[in-house]
Amino acid sequence: MKYKTMNKTGDELSILGYGCMRYPRKNGMIDFEETKNQVITAIENGVNYFDTAYIYPQSEEVLGKILSDGYREKVKIATKSHISRVKNIEDMTKIFQKQLKRLQTDYIDYYLLHDVTLEDWENFKDMGVLYFIKNEKENGKIRHFGFSFHGNLVNFKKIVDDYDWDMIMIQYNYIDENYQVGKEGLDYATSKNVGIMIMEPLRGGMLINKLSKESKKLIEDFPIKRSPAEWALRWLWNDENIDVVISGMNKYEDIMENIAIASDVEPNSLNEDEISLIGKLKNNFRDKIAVDCTGCGYCLPCPHGVDIPLSFSFFNDKVLFGGFYHPVFYLMKTSENKSYASACLKCGVCERKCPQDIRIMKELDNVKSKLETFRYKFLYRIAKLMFRR
Ligand code: SF4
Ligand code: SF4
Repeated sequence: MKYKTMNKTGDELSILGYGCMRYPRKNGMIDFEETKNQVITAIENGVNYFDTAYIYPQSEEVLGKILSDGYREKVKIATKSHISRVKNIEDMTKIFQKQLKRLQTDYIDYYLLHDVTLEDWENFKDMGVLYFIKNEKENGKIRHFGFSFHGNLVNFKKIVDDYDWDMIMIQYNYIDENYQVGKEGLDYATSKNVGIMIMEPLRGGMLINKLSKESKKLIEDFPIKRSPAEWALRWLWNDENIDVVISGMNKYEDIMENIAIASDVEPNSLNEDEISLIGKLKNNFRDKIAVDCTGCGYCLPCPHGVDIPLSFSFFNDKVLFGGFYHPVFYLMKTSENKSYASACLKCGVCERKCPQDIRIMKELDNVKSKLETFRYKFLYRIAKLMFRR
């Protein structure tokens, strides 16, 4: 296993982190024994960073139970607090105490605000989160503070600039090089000395399971034989600015494959042919993309509150990957603050600011007709009930 020393925290972290959102399941429940075997296998092979969250069902409890068997001091735990559960600082404190209990620990190594928007960040500050963090750091209960983010580059930079963060967690992989915060956001945070954790390195498995026939053939015909997962991971670890790549592993063979790759990679080691192959894989995805939005956020703010890049990001996901997950997640992200595509009143302000010359109003109509259907709204309501435990 290769390790990186975090600039701000000084921690030596394995470049492969363990994402605890997708534990193996049996009969709809987390399979504890199998999870325990997999987690311990990962630890014994050098993985020392575990990422969980308050809202991942049973994840903290299961991790806490496994680590309580003599493994707690061998690893760093990252967990998160989500705005949907926190209305004031008393909620935040109560949830944090519960997290310590679930994780069977006296302290959290990396505490993150989960999937924050700029608006969430302002709300967190208003409720006194900075005082809470300062206090818990002084008490030794929180060692480092960060946030995870899925929004656009403009808002990301504002949040990065607003606090002396220890680390951030962003979605990044070879097809997201220019999506959400993308490479520009990654390098921006690095320039501020902030640690970089990567989530969705395989796009939830899509870079393995949703490859087109052309992409599979490109990989098969390449002189160096590697799996689709290995190409995706090597592309990430080729970037010297990335600290930890967090993979939501739940199969023994995937864990062993990822560990083997993480023990062998070096930054800046891919040659021209290898980079060119990954460029072709990426273009293959891009050819199928519906809206060529880079997620830069220059079209914002919309006077009527539409989150344009977010709408296009989910629309592209739906077109590329199908299924109901993306429309439902889109509705989850946009319904509370009415930032969905159908809030567009066609004032045209955004189109004049888009560097990609995207016909935003027309594309938002497409988003509305494809993602805001009765079926997805129904599924969204069910998902909302399930999340509100
Ligand atoms: S055209 Fe629509 S999305 Fe664009 S700024 Fe106006 S209301 Fe917002
Ligand atoms: S629509 Fe244009 S301006 Fe807006 S985020 Fe996408 S590329 Fe940037």
